[in-house]
Amino acid sequence: MTAPQKKLYGIIGHPLGHTMSPALHNSGFNMFSLQSVYMAFPTPPEKLADFMKSFRTVPIHGASVTIPHKEAVMRYVDKVTPRASAVGAVNTLYWEKDLIVGDNTDVLGFMAPLKDKKNTSKKALVLGAGGAAKAVLAGLQELGTSDITICNRTLQRAEKLAATFKVNTITWDERGSVVADLVINTTPMGMAGEHVNETPYLAEMFTEHGVAYDLVYNPLETTFLRAAKEAGWETIDGLHMFAAQGAEQFRLWTGKKLPHDHIRKLVSNLLRL
Ligand code: NAP
Repeated sequence: MTAPQKKLYGIIGHPLGHTMSPALHNSGFNMFSLQSVYMAFPTPPEKLADFMKSFRTVPIHGASVTIPHKEAVMRYVDKVTPRASAVGAVNTLYWEKDLIVGDNTDVLGFMAPLKDKKNTSKKALVLGAGGAAKAVLAGLQELGTSDITICNRTLQRAEKLAATFKVNTITWDERGSVVADLVINTTPMGMAGEHVNETPYLAEMFTEHGVAYDLVYNPLETTFLRAAKEAGWETIDGLHMFAAQGAEQFRLWTGKKLPHDHIRKLVSNLLRL
């Protein structure tokens, strides 16, 4: 008797450090009794081509892609989805028949809580202009937000994104002067560790009413979200996006829907460890 073959999935990045993705996807495989396993594949840039050869030959059934491969991996896939193309980065690999598809589930992940809240922002302010900001801009545009302003500590980086996505830009020091009904933090400010007491948006900047959305999810309540709540704003923590982008990867690979509450509980417990 031969043992049933397990389907192999994983995450590539370098350095991978601590990633929640194996716990998330393996718990899903358990939940649906799937003969599958998700592993961490630390892959330095010079090994990316070799990894992609293995992806085709082993084969690996699906993968999450993280820093620094999100852009470089695009040249090794057979097809790029419109969302990945809008962002200019891939965070998910899956098979469509015998073609490797590169997708970006961060866009859908970002949009999910806004859709749930039926939030129709008229004027959004995006703080930060790194990789995550690109998924946020693509998501806001897909949601139909027409008035978007981006600002970043390093102005040139904001200007580059503003030109690509055709949005407004202001300097970092001017961020308190924009009246917005949706303010999104895409910087690591507020994240556990050296940044924990930082905030990209000062308490007195929360005028009018709106929604404050933080991409940081460790801790769940950042200084930014606490100040927003105290000013009477609605808040969305970063675990909503993380859970929704992970659930979308799982759906692309297995066709199954991982419940949001399951992921939230799992990750919250891991964060407490
Ligand atoms: P990144 O590409 O390195 O970009 C970081 C951005 O933050 C840059 O615009 C940088 O400005 C700015 N920044 C960094 N430190 C700053 C500081 N002390 N003051 C002001 N601005 C600062 O990083 P990323 O991939 O976009 O990720 C950003 C954050 O989003 C991380 O905390 C990550 O964990 C989180 N994230 C969450 C999810 C989720 O699912 N919830 C998904 C993706 C990312 P400069 O250009 O001036 O350096």
